[in-house]
This record gives sequence, C-alpha cells and structure tokens, in this order.
Amino acid sequence: MINKKRLVKTFTDLVKIDSESRDEAKVALYIKEKLKKLGIKYKIDNSKSLTQSNHGNIIAKLGSNKTLPTILLSSHMDTVTNGIGIKPKVHKSSITSDGTTILGADDKSGLAIILETLEVLKKEKVKHYNIEAAITTCEEIGLLGAKFLDYKLIKAKEGIVLDSTSPERLVYKGPSSDYFTIKIKGVEAHSGINPEKGLSSIVVSSEIISKMKTGRINANTTINIGKINGGSAINIVPGMTEIMCEIRSHNEKTIKIELNKIKKILDLMNKKYKRINKNFSAKIKVNRIYDSINIPKNSLIIKRILSSCKKFNYKINLVETGGGADANFFVKNGVNTVNLGTGMREFHTVKETLILKEFYQSANIVINSLIIED
Ligand SMILES: [Zn+2]
Repeated sequence: MINKKRLVKTFTDLVKIDSESRDEAKVALYIKEKLKKLGIKYKIDNSKSLTQSNHGNIIAKLGSNKTLPTILLSSHMDTVTNGIGIKPKVHKSSITSDGTTILGADDKSGLAIILETLEVLKKEKVKHYNIEAAITTCEEIGLLGAKFLDYKLIKAKEGIVLDSTSPERLVYKGPSSDYFTIKIKGVEAHSGINPEKGLSSIVVSSEIISKMKTGRINANTTINIGKINGGSAINIVPGMTEIMCEIRSHNEKTIKIELNKIKKILDLMNKKYKRINKNFSAKIKVNRIYDSINIPKNSLIIKRILSSCKKFNYKINLVETGGGADANFFVKNGVNTVNLGTGMREFHTVKETLILKEFYQSANIVINSLIIED
C-alpha cells in the first residue's frame, strides 16, 4: 500500500533541507506545501516565542468521524548539529550521508512516514481512525517543541511517535529525567601572594564528585556529570564552580533517594568549609526535564500496532528505553504515546544510516494500524 519510491523521495527531499534546532522554518515550508497539495488542513501553534525557533509546531488533521477515536502521529523537524548541506546517498539496502555530516534520519525518517501515511489514507478510499499529526520543533535541545506545544489543538488520547531505531522495538516505558546543578561558592584570592585567604571551589568540587556515585546506579537509574564550569584565571584561587548533572530513572522514589544522598554530601561540605570561611556555600538546584511514561499494554494503540505486525508477520517487542523523546511530553499532556522505530541507526553521528527494509516496515505498521477493516 505504501509507495516505496515516493517514501524514499520524500525522505531525501527532507534531509536536503537544513533544519538544525531553532531553524525549522525551511523544512516546515516543505511540509506545509505537501499538506496543501493533499488538501489536508493544518495549524501552526504559537510555541516559537517560547522555543525561540523560527517556526511553531505543525498540527495537521485528517478525518473527522466523531464516532471514531483520534490517533496522534508525531516526529520532529529539527536535527542535531553537523546537519548543514546533507547529501544523502541511496544504496541498495540503506541510505547514508556522504560521511561529512549526519544523515538526519533522526527524525526525517519519521516525518517521511507521516507524510506517506497521510497521502495514502487521503487518496485511497479506506476507513481509518481520525489522525492528528504533531510535527514538532526543537526536540534535540530538550524536547522544547513538545514541551510548549499548544495542547488545546490536540484531541487524541493515544498516539505514536516515530523516533527510534528498529521497528521491531516498540517503546512503551521510559524514565523520568531531572537536570541538577551543584553550585560551589568558594573564596577568591591571589594564588601566589595570599592563597591562605582563598578557598578553592574547584578543589571542593573534586571532593564532592569523589563522594558521588555516577554512571549506572541500578537497573532503572543512571546519573551523569556532564559539564563543569569553574574558576576565572590561572593565578586566582577559584571562587565559583558549577557541576552540571543529570539523573534518569523509571522509579520516582529512586530519584528522591539519590538526590537526597547528594544533598547529604553537600550538607557535610557546608559544615566542613563554613568553619574555614563563612562565605563558603554548596547548593543544589533541581530541574524536572520530563516525566516517566508507562503505556498500558491493553491500550488501543499498542493493540493496533501488534495486530498490524501479526498481519505482516513482522517481529515486534515491547521495550523500555533509557532515553527521552517527545512522547514524554505527550503523555504528560494526556496522550498515551508509544515510540516506534523507523530503521535509523547510529544517529547523531556522521555514520548515521537508514535501513530501507525497516523504513518500509515501519511505514506499513503505521498505516495499517490506522486502517479500520469492517
Ligand atoms: Zn529524534
């Protein structure tokens, strides 16, 4: 039912349009023209003032049968960096870049599948669920498009995000994520003339880090120290250091417990160093990035996808992920959203590849999950 040639053409068209995060306007134009040609209505939300992108999210609708549920389809328009001037190379069984840039299959493979789905369902006279396509911006810089999407425009209660690797993987469970920054305020002094008057925030930072547990904490939880900023010059005892970290877990309780352990380390440091200099302080600031997801296995969307796979004899597994995606914000806003792979591999690198067989498989699954056979 899918037109493989057209699907590949749409994909290569899309990746040739530069669209690093916050610069989605050009690729949005391509999508809007395509929707107009198909006679599919769409709206642009007002998220761009909040995401600081040059375009809002696109919300397209197909079907308005009030007796039928509405299903959300979603992918993101932006790519990571090293995404300027992509030259896709179509091989026999895959598509790659020319090796100097990313390919942008993350997530233009998802976009191409959505556009193919809309075209097939619009042109062929088959009964299908109502569809809302939420095509987002700024996913790669903290899921900002989905975070600031105008959810008043969304009716769907269930959906599919197309933003993962193999279509044999259906992600139904994902972790919560918090970013946290530890700010250490030491005391500046000249390092050669009177270091005794100073209190090095970098030295205390290393003490804090040496006491922190990082990496994999348990099967459900990870902690990462991702960035450190500190000091102002080589000959000054550093006054301020910031340690920027992340915790992800499928279990909210574990997040609380682990953050409390870190707070206890900071209590200890404050006690120890305030005695030496009362201006010392070590503080933590926690920011929720996204909430965990856990889609019921008996939900309509999972049942529809599983039965489509059965029909085509495709293998599929319900899996948990350690990563975050726009799905986390859709779920937070009442849309139970799973994440289906599109055939992309090694994304965010110049070796990024789209496996054609899986790409077609993913498109087949999506279209057939939306068709209602009486
Ligand atoms: Zn992505």
